[in-house]
Amino acid sequence: MKLFEYQAKQFLAKYGVPIPKGSVASTPDQARQITTELGKTVVIKGQVHSGGRGKAGAVKLAKSPEEAYQIAKELLGSTLFFAQANAHMRIDNVLVEEALSIKHEIYLAITQDRATQRDVLIVSTMGGIDIELVAHDNPEAISKTPIDPLLGLTDYAARDALFAAGFDKTLINKAVVLLKSLYASYVGTDASLAEINPLVITQDGALIAGDAKWLIDDNAIFRQPQIASLATEVDEDPIEAEAHRRGIQYVRLEGGKIGIIGNGAGLVMTTMDEVKRAGGTPADFLDIGGGAQAESVRSSLEIILSDPNVKGVLFNIFGGITRGDEVAKGIVEGMATLNVRIPIVVRLAGTRAAQGAEILQGASIVSAETMQDAAQKIVELANS
Ligand code: GDP
Ligand code: MN
Repeated sequence: MKLFEYQAKQFLAKYGVPIPKGSVASTPDQARQITTELGKTVVIKGQVHSGGRGKAGAVKLAKSPEEAYQIAKELLGSTLFFAQANAHMRIDNVLVEEALSIKHEIYLAITQDRATQRDVLIVSTMGGIDIELVAHDNPEAISKTPIDPLLGLTDYAARDALFAAGFDKTLINKAVVLLKSLYASYVGTDASLAEINPLVITQDGALIAGDAKWLIDDNAIFRQPQIASLATEVDEDPIEAEAHRRGIQYVRLEGGKIGIIGNGAGLVMTTMDEVKRAGGTPADFLDIGGGAQAESVRSSLEIILSDPNVKGVLFNIFGGITRGDEVAKGIVEGMATLNVRIPIVVRLAGTRAAQGAEILQGASIVSAETMQDAAQKIVELANS
């Protein structure tokens, strides 16, 4: 899960990394108000899940509250192209911060390094610009220091990294403290990437995080309630958001017409392939998992039916620990309680498939023997 810059900076601040004074605005009036309170030149930054915002025109200086109002008005609600993400993105919020008097820009990051099976601290004095470019043109300008998972980031390892990068020697002690705070925030938020680019060295020798890019390991969200609560704001797709609230593994696919439910990721993906082969387009990926109970089957059907693009639903169940009768019960309950107006094809095999078929007798579904047969049937029915 990605955090916005303004969210990531709150975590940095919490762990003691200095950030510029400022706050987030969703209206031009708020931007003007924040600028008035700061009482100096501000930088206004569109909040999107992409870097390269400077180049895209989403980072701008404002010398007065009035100018801040105008720039915020231009940026808020606008959609810009971000080359780094290769996508158009709408700006819903801007971060309004005191502008920094930049002397030097440093690149800092902590991330996972699969080669050493460690977290790695990355430092470069060629900050501000795209780190991939630096890596390509000046690989020697980047220092990489593996972090011992038992010791954490020690003073000497941080110092080594800074020396190796050619960091200003007079500021090294200050930078070591900052790096340790950065590491604490990385560990504390279960991040897989914590990047500060640029870390600004100001004219008067202060170190301040000018930007922050953060990735949280999705497998850790369950133990990060504060971050999980940010996720609902970020979830763009309302149906996906609802599915995730219900604990359902669901991915909505653009432009598809056939809703797909299966047990096990591999089976669901294969089912998607079969639907494609039969000339259809999958509307989603939904995995009820192993051992699903009737209620979660019903709930999954409800999620799929809430997508107005769906013109037919295909159940493909290969029972192991998942029981055919339990799935069938869920389907029957779904048919009884949800307003189902589209065709449903069910293929049940494996554990208790026969009992499942009995339960489905009389339900207005079409049953199929094989996955291929099921895919063909649902595509035909959805088209007619
Ligand atoms: P990014 O382009 O999405 O990575 O956004 P950044 O926050 O890194 O901003 C891009 C560039 O804007 C920085 O590298 C700076 O060179 C420049 N910039 C100019 N003035 C300021 C300032 O006061 N604060 C910050 N953060 N950046 C500034
Ligand atoms: Mn940046």
